[in-house]
Amino acid sequence: MAKIQTPQPVRGTQDIFGEDQERFQHVVETFEFVRRLYGFKGVQMPVFEPTAVFARSLGETTDVVSKEMYSFEDRGGDSLTLRPEFTAGISRAFLTNGWQQHAPMKLSTHGPLFRYERPQKGRYRQFHQLDAEIIGAGEAAADVELLCFADQLLNELGISDGVTLQLNTLGDAESRDAWRDALVDHFRAHKADLSKDSQDRLERNPLRILDSKERQDRPIADSAPEIDAYLSDEAQEFFAQVTEGLDACGVAWTRNSRLVRGLDYYRHTAFEFVTDRLGAQGTVLAGGRYDGLIESLGGPATPAVGWAAGIERLGMLLDDVAPEPLELAVVPMGDAATTKALSVANELRNFDFSSEIFGSGKFKKRMARSNQAGALAAIIIGEDELASGKVQFKNLATGEQSELTMDEVIEQARELQLAKVFDDADSNSERLDSAIEALGDLD
Ligand code: ATP
Ligand code: MG
Repeated sequence: MAKIQTPQPVRGTQDIFGEDQERFQHVVETFEFVRRLYGFKGVQMPVFEPTAVFARSLGETTDVVSKEMYSFEDRGGDSLTLRPEFTAGISRAFLTNGWQQHAPMKLSTHGPLFRYERPQKGRYRQFHQLDAEIIGAGEAAADVELLCFADQLLNELGISDGVTLQLNTLGDAESRDAWRDALVDHFRAHKADLSKDSQDRLERNPLRILDSKERQDRPIADSAPEIDAYLSDEAQEFFAQVTEGLDACGVAWTRNSRLVRGLDYYRHTAFEFVTDRLGAQGTVLAGGRYDGLIESLGGPATPAVGWAAGIERLGMLLDDVAPEPLELAVVPMGDAATTKALSVANELRNFDFSSEIFGSGKFKKRMARSNQAGALAAIIIGEDELASGKVQFKNLATGEQSELTMDEVIEQARELQLAKVFDDADSNSERLDSAIEALGDLD
């Protein structure tokens, strides 16, 4: 018989497991924690949308729409696209569900996105983002709140060292158009020296030349006119409000007057949190104000601002992440004890202890595995224990062992669990101190 070829994974996809999965999960859980602090409501979005959702809102000339989308015709003949980003789909949902009545809406989500890119470290064809949006808020306060959210997320993840917030304004439509004309004049004068891609962009999307990664484009992009000379009074005032808000909240930022966003619908605030620790894939979180997007989907003029962050890139920046340790190991000795172990483990889980059965290999091996899993105690069940109705309870930190009824096991395990909570709190004394201070404020 011919050997059957095992199908290979799709290029640019990852099977996330082990330590990478710990990192991934830690990023998502921290995001869920922080978004609640800021009152963002979670939302789940379809993974595919009609192609028009992205083509219209992102603009036909962006890299994402022109080169990176996974679009296909379904069996009914409709053109669908796997979402390359969240914002357009959320804006579509805002319109088709009549969410205008709830505006301003603070929404957050996370999940997989798809872009046909050249895979490399930190750049995949299926990747994952955290996403936060405020729809229906035109004030600079919304931009500030979102940036504080992003800043706190990076702090909570412990990765804010070496990450800088780069901030720019793209002005209102009038400022942006005037700047665009000046950029086109500048780039036309240097057209012959631009890369082939940038020569194309010159006609279609000249702002994109500013963040070209081609070396030959850099001197021309770096000497291009800055937006400041073209900003209307209103646009200047708006930007001043954003920077004053950030200063008031203690969020550090630097101005990058050449920062643009790849997508066409951005106005006013544009920002990126950038690190030098990930090589060319240094942008971990990026966003801005997209006041023009909802109109481009046929809705009423609706101001909005948002950001997205790459989960994989954030995960790569994390220090070592330890897997959540197991609480109780159950170690049966002999066949009869194996069934008993199932019911013991089940009872422990019903009392909210994490527990696992270590039922294969020699006794020593079983105990070693229990230790490796980080268990606080092992519950050992042998022939004698089956007869007496009691089990051996071994504290794995001290080695102490005693024969206990299940009620006593629960009691002892609860004590160990509590002691561990206090231990963890101790080693995190800063948090404990501030909690005690807060308690003091209460009386
Ligand atoms: P880049 O310039 O790196 O291509 P972008 O402007 O296309 O980024 P956005 O659309 O702003 O990126 O996406 C927000 C964030 O999502 C990025 O800052 C990055 O962290 C992450 N991201 C974007 N594309 C990918 C990808 N292909 N693989 C992994 N992460 C990605
Ligand atoms: Mg990109």
